[in-house]
Amino acid sequence: MIRLSKPSFSAKINKNIDKVISSGNLIDGFYTNKFETKINNYFKTNYSIAVSSGTAALHLSLLSIGIKKFDEVIIPSFSYIATANVVENVGATPIFVDIKIDNLCMNIDLLQKKITNKTKAIIIVHEFGNVCDMNKLMKLSKKFKIKVIEDAACSLGSKYENKLTGLFGDIACFSFHPRKVLTTSEGGIVLTKSIKDYKFIRSYKNHGLERSKNKIDFVFPGLNYRLSEINSVLGLNQFSLLNKNIKHRRKIAKIYNNHFSNNKNLYLTSIKDNIFCNYQSYHIILKENSIRNKLKKYLFLNKIESNVGAQAIPFQKFYKNKYKFKKKDFPNAYNAFKKGLVIPIGEHISEKNAHFIANKINNFF
Ligand SMILES: *Cc1c(COP(=O)(O)O)cnc(C)c1O
Repeated sequence: MIRLSKPSFSAKINKNIDKVISSGNLIDGFYTNKFETKINNYFKTNYSIAVSSGTAALHLSLLSIGIKKFDEVIIPSFSYIATANVVENVGATPIFVDIKIDNLCMNIDLLQKKITNKTKAIIIVHEFGNVCDMNKLMKLSKKFKIKVIEDAACSLGSKYENKLTGLFGDIACFSFHPRKVLTTSEGGIVLTKSIKDYKFIRSYKNHGLERSKNKIDFVFPGLNYRLSEINSVLGLNQFSLLNKNIKHRRKIAKIYNNHFSNNKNLYLTSIKDNIFCNYQSYHIILKENSIRNKLKKYLFLNKIESNVGAQAIPFQKFYKNKYKFKKKDFPNAYNAFKKGLVIPIGEHISEKNAHFIANKINNFF
């Protein structure tokens, strides 16, 4: 089976994992520190905090900027479910905005209408590594004084006008789940811009612990959202491969693009000239749900894995029942979910594989 993704590590990994195990320091040690330093250097910041998942990163971000019961948080209607679940989990209300079908990111033109006096934050998602119109978004957030959290779970290394995603909002969250461009198996990072957020999150992820000169104390009820040393070893190892892996993903995407450019049966997302896309996923949209399902089955029979890329969150059971959304409220998210498919991309896909997969898909029609 050609897997959707299959992360690989350089040979050094075993030696470093052995080192962690024989040291007996399995948390809060040398490697987590080093991983955070690497991230800081990459983003030219001082305020990154390693956490146990992308979801933890999002949860901590909402807590840090003080999102609470009865607040509203604007989010895109098409994303991984975590983007909405964290909002529900702090007792706030997610306010969904439809996506643009050509980039699968929030349609910023629809955003302003959703702003009320309860709006406390916007979570923007760089879906599959593509980036929304950040100029428009940041202008709106300034005008209405609303905080921006970047859910950059998919977009490590993606850029908008030459600036890395994660550097635009007040806080940014990255996921290192195995389907992302860099993995620690489970893990994530929060990037903050203020010392206040940095201190709060660093403490909250460790049960509210605060260290002063000669004592430690627990100053508020936090949680355990720490990243382990083993996870950090994986992350450091993957970090050394990041640029090479993104370059490879872009090469594979180009091969797919060329094969599909004349295929009228599928719709591809477009990457604007001012965007550098890491191609965390390669997503296609078919004409009908039934064709999507048939194609998925056909690919499976040809030993090629494919899957739904992300969820139309308003139509997942919990959200549908709670907020009674209709298809026409978020038509693009609905279509991307019902007719969309992601196909294999990553360092495990050779150029030969890419031609094979693309030819299979074109032959299907
Ligand atoms: C993967 C992902 C998450 C969640 O990350 P985990 O590390 O799996 O918790 C959140 N948002 C988006 C957009 C994602 O793609």
